[in-house]
Amino acid sequence: MTQHPKPLAHQPQHEVVKYQEQKLQELLTYLSQNSPFYKDLFAAHQIDINQVKTLDDLRLIPTTTKEDLQKRNDDFLCVDKGRIIEYSSTSGTLGSPVTIALTENDLERLAYNEYNSFTCADGSAADLYQLMLTLDRQFMAGMAYYSGIRKIGAGIIRLGPGVPSLQWETILRLKPTAIVAVPSFILKLIQFAQEHHIDINASSVKKAVCIGENIRNTDFSLNILGQKITEAWDIKLYSTYASTEMQTAFTECGEGRGGHHQPELLIVEVLDEHNNPVAPGESGEVTITTLGVEGMPLLRYKTGDICHYFDESCACGRTSIRLSSIVGRKKQMIKFKGTTLYPPALFDLLNGMEEIKDFVAEVYPNEIGMDEVLLHLLPINYTDECDRKIRANLQARLRVSPHITYLKADEMQKLQFPEAVRKPVKFIDRRK
Ligand SMILES: [Zn+2]
Repeated sequence: MTQHPKPLAHQPQHEVVKYQEQKLQELLTYLSQNSPFYKDLFAAHQIDINQVKTLDDLRLIPTTTKEDLQKRNDDFLCVDKGRIIEYSSTSGTLGSPVTIALTENDLERLAYNEYNSFTCADGSAADLYQLMLTLDRQFMAGMAYYSGIRKIGAGIIRLGPGVPSLQWETILRLKPTAIVAVPSFILKLIQFAQEHHIDINASSVKKAVCIGENIRNTDFSLNILGQKITEAWDIKLYSTYASTEMQTAFTECGEGRGGHHQPELLIVEVLDEHNNPVAPGESGEVTITTLGVEGMPLLRYKTGDICHYFDESCACGRTSIRLSSIVGRKKQMIKFKGTTLYPPALFDLLNGMEEIKDFVAEVYPNEIGMDEVLLHLLPINYTDECDRKIRANLQARLRVSPHITYLKADEMQKLQFPEAVRKPVKFIDRRK
């Protein structure tokens, strides 16, 4: 199970389908023998796995939801506990956290996945990556990046998240060629450099792999966050999208036209609310079937992430589909006074306003069960003039007025970093 063929992303489509259909049958057999959850599911829906032969036949099988994984977490485990090496967990930003257990082979698969990802993002053995992220707290991505970069043979500096002064001191001392970071933190690095007269464009860093937040609009143009970074700092940005449950990343190549699918690791469907496939360029929920996972494989798992996909071949030579930046998480959709809004669009608006240095958006239900939005803002100053500009801009762009509360810098810090979070909190959802 550890032996992977050469990356399928470059292969013609019929080769990919042939490979995936064979792997799908292996998976169905494996699940029917080893997964308490899927044994029950197949029995309850009278599914004969021998009838599921092609990728289209997948539609015969019901989808799996995050709630299934939350409620019956242990029933997804397909191996004896003695074979588990790593217990990763989801961050729990959307309900209770889920544990994903990985075997030695799963860790090898994870490393291969990031080997492909970082190679796709123009990484090579000549690179030195500064990892500005958590490597513990059961965070799968941290160790995945680490093991994938090792496989490439590139260098690694495990600096951890935050602390711009230490990040810069290390950049100037060890001269990394690339950083892996949350894009809003890259803005903080730029601010720090400007305040401390560090010439960022003379630094060794030439590229950034951006995690956790969008840097592009769904048409691949840079969003405001992406623009702000590249206007100040002449580096190349690569977006990557992954989740703990998928154990797989979609990473951009140098063309910057969406995250590439790795066909040997996942079957991807992009589905509408009725679980029908959407056309390229339309919004749908990313739904995945893991290939080659031993510990907790997933079959038609609905990730909750809304994306567009594109199926034309990429100029880099890869033929696999590409995913746009996340339009939003299905559960986080805000129905706000007659308009529909996803947090990333709101974040993009707030990132673009000069009067706002930092923010947290909060959503809560009002007495009649409708969504209300409260913005916690760190403004550039506390004058009436600044307040007036912020309110006028929000009204113009959103067409409705959210509630606003202004915070001091230390209050913002406390709100964004409650205990035990792995990345700054930008969105608080009090609907449940
Ligand atoms: Zn490409």
